Amino acid sequence: MAAGGLSRSERKAAERVRRLREEQQRERLRQVSRILRKAATERSAEEGRLLAESEDLVTELQGRSRRREGLKRRQEEASPGRGRTGRARGRAGAGSRPASLSWQVCDDPEELQRKVRELASAVRNAKYLVVYTGAGISTAASIPDYRGPNGVWTLLQKGRSVSAADLSEAEPTLTHMSIARLHEQKLVQHVVSQNCDGLHLRSGLPRSAMSELHGNMYIEVCTACTPNREYVRVFDVTERTALHRHQTGRTCHKCGGQLRDTIVHFGERGTLGQPLNWEAATQAASKADTILCLGSSLKVLKKYPHLWCMTKPPSRRPKLYIVNLQWTPKDDWAALKLHGKCDDVMQLLMDELGLEIPRYSRWQDPIFSLATPLRAGEEGSHSRKSLCRSREEPGPGDRGAPLSSAPILGGWFGRGCTKRTKKKKVT
Ligand SMILES: [Zn+2]
Repeated sequence: MAAGGLSRSERKAAERVRRLREEQQRERLRQVSRILRKAATERSAEEGRLLAESEDLVTELQGRSRRREGLKRRQEEASPGRGRTGRARGRAGAGSRPASLSWQVCDDPEELQRKVRELASAVRNAKYLVVYTGAGISTAASIPDYRGPNGVWTLLQKGRSVSAADLSEAEPTLTHMSIARLHEQKLVQHVVSQNCDGLHLRSGLPRSAMSELHGNMYIEVCTACTPNREYVRVFDVTERTALHRHQTGRTCHKCGGQLRDTIVHFGERGTLGQPLNWEAATQAASKADTILCLGSSLKVLKKYPHLWCMTKPPSRRPKLYIVNLQWTPKDDWAALKLHGKCDDVMQLLMDELGLEIPRYSRWQDPIFSLATPLRAGEEGSHSRKSLCRSREEPGPGDRGAPLSSAPILGGWFGRGCTKRTKKKKVT
């Protein structure tokens, strides 16, 4: 097996050189890997230079880390008893159908802190930051999410009924208030939400800065009027509506036409200009250099290619930061995935950015000034509890109907979801 024409000592010398080169390569890999684990802001100039010089190693290491994450995830899905960090929370009870969907993972505190530092530097450096939000940002407002262990979808999949605490008592969370502040500070340019709970609006975020892609439970519109005439209410307008059945039972003050809700159920195409505001969402996505996804499983959002700039080459797509306890289909494309509760991450982020989080106050809730009061004779047109400026005082037009923990049958929250799963089977 002698290499042609080389003496024994020459072969030995060549082998030594090869080993030395390999060792140097490994050492460099270790160095680069160590630097990559640091937050971008913590790297020295020297380290930054080394990264720039080792582009191929960086690409390889990032690829490896992605593959490792993928493997871990698959292992977690296969054996739900073990978590990524050993701190994973329990999944939905035994017998839950899609274990992988409701499986939650938490980063340990130091890891989360490190990731938040990296996120903070991305927020500071972003030229155009768009935030995508899902049900996970409202769970702290006691609105259940969809796919979490106790989410609406998960429960319905298990054949359980959904009962919700008084939805009208829900208030914008720390995350909603932080986003409003970030927008005010011009650090966030636009917010695209899948939530129908109206909490972004109530946090003080301007209408022009948000797209509520799936509607807003407080808004009903007259489509007979041109332009559409919008009625913001202080109660859930959707109690009589469902999939393909959107009339709320009230009529337009101007033309007498039937009002409809703005909810887009699964399987429907949202056509209303407002509050969906697709135009602004698409425009924002095309301008974005950074996207922050908060509390969304992204299973629905991923189906809107415009939101991900899929027509652009991968290198020119916005950088993706994802905050979610569960796996999302965009994880592999994320610059950073933070496994934490939205409120925890946002609190850390705002601290890191040195920004105070405004406290929600009912007295400053914009919904009260935006709302159109019911006319005489319309008070009985709904039985949902109205929002009121102070918790004690009954809301205008509120008949004091007790909001029980009975299953919610109508509206975006209850029936919409049931129909949604049925619809899914049909198609
Ligand atoms: Zn009208």
